[in-house]
Amino acid sequence: MTKDWLLSFEFFPPKTQPGAEKLARTRETLARLAPEYFSVTYGAGGSTRDNTRDVVLETRAAGLDAMPHLSFAFGDDDANAIKTLLETYRQAGVSRLLALRGDLPSDPESTRKPIHANELVAFIREHFGEQFNLQVAAYPEIHPDAKSYQDDIHWLGEKFKAGADGAITQYFFNIDAYWYFLDQAAKAGIDKPIVPGIMPITNFTSLARFSAGCGAEIPRWMAKKLEQYGDDQASIIAFGTDVITQLCERLLEGGVPGLHFYTMNQAQPSIDILSRLGVSAGQS
Ligand code: FAD
Repeated sequence: MTKDWLLSFEFFPPKTQPGAEKLARTRETLARLAPEYFSVTYGAGGSTRDNTRDVVLETRAAGLDAMPHLSFAFGDDDANAIKTLLETYRQAGVSRLLALRGDLPSDPESTRKPIHANELVAFIREHFGEQFNLQVAAYPEIHPDAKSYQDDIHWLGEKFKAGADGAITQYFFNIDAYWYFLDQAAKAGIDKPIVPGIMPITNFTSLARFSAGCGAEIPRWMAKKLEQYGDDQASIIAFGTDVITQLCERLLEGGVPGLHFYTMNQAQPSIDILSRLGVSAGQS
């Protein structure tokens, strides 16, 4: 069966050699599912930025498409360094980027001043024209810093006005939040694809911590179920695979343009979900 939606996988740059070796294996395994691209997250500051670039270039060297995430903060970066990085990507055949603000510094005294994603999109368009397909982030349950629901939709619209081609969402478990968000975005004149981000569930403690930080709601019934499993990892994974497969099925039935998996550098959780959606090695 040929699928008519785009599949992509997200990685973070590993900090250790064993982590790098594991990521290479994960990438090789997931490449068999013929994804459109692998995206690589970006951390503020020099060393993580270099790690992102290295993973992107390795992915390109393996003959695969890579989408670097990118942010720009005065205090960390200068415009020339970012332009050099973008030129490196262009020469390596990178054709898409995810433009982000990134998180604000936790220290109020910090001199680091990230620019908003719409400004970064405008900067890239100014210096690189249409060389890159530009993706941005969207938040069906609304970004934690947003002044209001409508304000967040407004700023998403500004990212598109600045030249973004599409958006990828923060993960969510409540599908109604996503449909409502699409509806509100359409009412605000947004007509570009907004691909849902999918988070496989493998560990409740880290999921709860991460979700609290990024404003993704874990519905009470799911939290109760996951809590009940305690340290029983196999049951957490079995339940998580069921719930996320059903979420993906409903999204695909609703006609989403693609699914973007937050892999956390693990292949198996995404493979388990995708095989139940009828996507396995050798199919495209
Ligand atoms: P923005 O679009 O700038 O929005 C941030 C907040 O400011 C929102 O509340 C918005 O309503 C408001 N706003 C937007 N524009 C303006 C403006 N011009 N003036 C005033 N207010 C404005 N983080 C990382 O550090 N590295 C990553 O690799 C990474 N990858 C991600 C991938 C995806 C798919 C998603 C959904 C998120 C990712 N994040 C990543 C998290 C992201 O960086 C944070 O959520 C960050 O706090 C906001 O980034 P943004 O690009 O959405 O910011």
